[in-house]
Amino acid sequence: MEFPQPSLLLSFSSKHKNKTPKNMTTPRHIVAIPGDGIGPEVMRATQRVLEAAGAPIVWHEHHAGVAALADGDVVLPDSTTAAIREHKIALKSPCTTPVGKGFSSVNVQLRKALDLYAAVRPVRSLPGVKTRFENIDLVIIRENTEGLYSGVENVVTEGTVMSMKVATEKACSRISEWAFDYARKRDRKKVTVFHKANIMKLTDGLFIRESAKAAKGYADVAYEEVIIDAGCMKMVQDPTQFDMLLLENLYGDVVSDLCAGLVGGLGVVPGANIGNSDAVFEAVHGSAPDIAGKDIANPLALIMSAVMMLNYLADTEGLEIMREAAEKIKTAYNSALEAGEKTRDLGGELGTTAFTDALCNRITSA
Ligand code: ATP
Repeated sequence: MEFPQPSLLLSFSSKHKNKTPKNMTTPRHIVAIPGDGIGPEVMRATQRVLEAAGAPIVWHEHHAGVAALADGDVVLPDSTTAAIREHKIALKSPCTTPVGKGFSSVNVQLRKALDLYAAVRPVRSLPGVKTRFENIDLVIIRENTEGLYSGVENVVTEGTVMSMKVATEKACSRISEWAFDYARKRDRKKVTVFHKANIMKLTDGLFIRESAKAAKGYADVAYEEVIIDAGCMKMVQDPTQFDMLLLENLYGDVVSDLCAGLVGGLGVVPGANIGNSDAVFEAVHGSAPDIAGKDIANPLALIMSAVMMLNYLADTEGLEIMREAAEKIKTAYNSALEAGEKTRDLGGELGTTAFTDALCNRITSA
């Protein structure tokens, strides 16, 4: 069911909900999926911050995961997918897929249904967040549609089960082209593929063959292939030797969390899942049920994902007002962190609400 929430257009009276007053920028309609666990808390925080920054957005709230099951629906309702197809953009909190009950993952289903084949995860050092290394500035590009996530698993005989890793020329080629195109547009210097083609000669072999092929069209971007186990060791020894990483699905999942650990944890790594027509922005972290409902989750990863969304809208639709809002939010969280206004996962003392208040105050008083 569609619930338009013009919460970011507070100057609208309810009877003018669907009209844009004169002198006001036309709002962008965006799907919000509050998700499960800490999802609704970090979504609320993010929407407040976007509102404070003046991003003209009308939210359409849709459910997925356990929240959808609670509504008597399936984990990924058709209405949720249809709304994203209609509006082309969604901001999504983490969703829980009940384990061992025959449900296939919400995230995997959504990425496949909308063919969101490129996951983009910037991993950056933040001011005021002390970690072992400084000046980390990595971008992870993860293939989002196949590999061991293809969902082909079966029982061979009693006591023997099998999971199939799928690689297609089409998917390996398009993610590689996408990564190099991104590198060129963002003035990145090097793409490193982590792989295990020495063991998975066919699947990972195809992946590196296609990435090497794509690299040939981008002489301005360096290309290297590193076996993933050695790559992980190099990463924790000195992450600044990498610029962009290109990985197949499962490696991308694992290495994203590893890299999150280098810059302060899962609370500070945003993400986007991008296809040729739709894009879903979401944090790398999951629904963290252990801290749900306690007002202690760090909303920054979803806030940063929303910043990526605003810049994407500016780039793809020319909505400069979104870029301005993004800049305000970035300035606010950088200065807040620097001043020690942090949640507990980053060594601070603020809860989700207090941290969000601090960001909103900084934005509105700037
Ligand atoms: P899921 O199965 O949905 O992936 P999970 O608990 O296995 O959930 P995450 O949600 O990614 O995995 O969380 C791993 C741990 O990291 C959590 O237990 C939590 O303590 C911490 N964590 C994750 N996200 C945040 C956050 N936004 N703020 C603070 N801590 C977080």
